[in-house]
Amino acid sequence: MDDFAARDPAPRPVLRPRTSNCPACGSSEVEPFYRVKSIPLHSCILLESPEAAQAFPRRDLELAFCDDCGFAFNALFDAPSMAYSTNFEESQHFSDTFNTFARDLVGEISETCEAAGKQVVEIGCGKGEFLVQLCELAGACGIGIDPGYRADPGRTSGAVTVRFIPELFGPAHFDLPSDIVICRHTLEHIPAVRSFLAAIRQMIGPRRDVQIVFETPDFARVLQEGAFWDIYYEHCSYFSADTHADLFRREGFAVDEVKLVYGGQYIVQYARPAAQPFGTIPADPGVVAEIRHLVQGFPARVRQSQRAWRDRIEAANRSDRRVVLWGGSSKAVSLVTTLGLGAEIAAVVDINPYKQGKFLPGSGHAVIAPEALSAFDPGLVIVMNPLYREEVSRRLTGLGISAEVVAL
Ligand SMILES: [Zn+2]
Repeated sequence: MDDFAARDPAPRPVLRPRTSNCPACGSSEVEPFYRVKSIPLHSCILLESPEAAQAFPRRDLELAFCDDCGFAFNALFDAPSMAYSTNFEESQHFSDTFNTFARDLVGEISETCEAAGKQVVEIGCGKGEFLVQLCELAGACGIGIDPGYRADPGRTSGAVTVRFIPELFGPAHFDLPSDIVICRHTLEHIPAVRSFLAAIRQMIGPRRDVQIVFETPDFARVLQEGAFWDIYYEHCSYFSADTHADLFRREGFAVDEVKLVYGGQYIVQYARPAAQPFGTIPADPGVVAEIRHLVQGFPARVRQSQRAWRDRIEAANRSDRRVVLWGGSSKAVSLVTTLGLGAEIAAVVDINPYKQGKFLPGSGHAVIAPEALSAFDPGLVIVMNPLYREEVSRRLTGLGISAEVVAL
């Protein structure tokens, strides 16, 4: 994992590209609206020492909005510098709250797609927990594709017919048999979103009965809430439910259902191959106008949110209440690097044992187990996702810690 630091120890000057066209529709009507300087290239990676974490390569980010289709993207995204390996730890499957959500979604997909006996291909399967759960519940066969797949003992059961291909999805996989294609939390990492969907369309071929299930973060909520911690370098593509569905329609899919789940944080979309691929479908002006309105107000909402969090953290430090973040996630990396936080944060807690003992890229904060938290005597615990607040409060009570608990 330290290869990154060895290969690229210093921030590289960013050459401002000539206006890049919109990766979702090809339009040149794109307008930058949000910039962050020098943020870590990756925020799910684990580093072995604070020095390696602080030396982790950084880049600038500039979000641009497409005035023709409403898509948002990092116009400075440097795809060749990204590398995904088995050192990534993106799994949320150690949280009861997340597991309940994942179990419900597994049940829903199993029923909606009538998955029993079918062949499921999951593109970007991470460590494979979701695919294994789905195949176990439905009695389906699975193939998971992800360069970050790592077979950890005990992480997934060996009882079902699931195999994993630790590679980036590409033409080599077009021959894989697939009745159901699943892709969760992956599209936002793809810069060339149209080519990616075209590749899936090509993999499916002439069949019309294949079901495609996508789960992608909802950017409309991020814009509404000024949630700057939900913007990080690996996420180069940002969708609302409407712009997500529109992209699929343009690339030859019929969208059956698109909805928001997980406290409105994620888009879940069911689609099928359409008869007419690659049609030109103009975006709904109402959809674009809504996103444009949110984009225009976003910088002011971010300034307000950043000021509020800085004030809160500084006030706690002034009154000798130690501040701890709960969740060594991408949100934590984004929060501390965007606000430039260092010693103001005493530690970062995570219940995922694969993260404990490691360090956050950028700031180099240590990630500790909940059991180690008592030694820090925290006064303020900031939970990285409001959905985990109750779970975290219960855990703190169990540990005999009576800190103020707030959520992003
Ligand atoms: Zn566009």
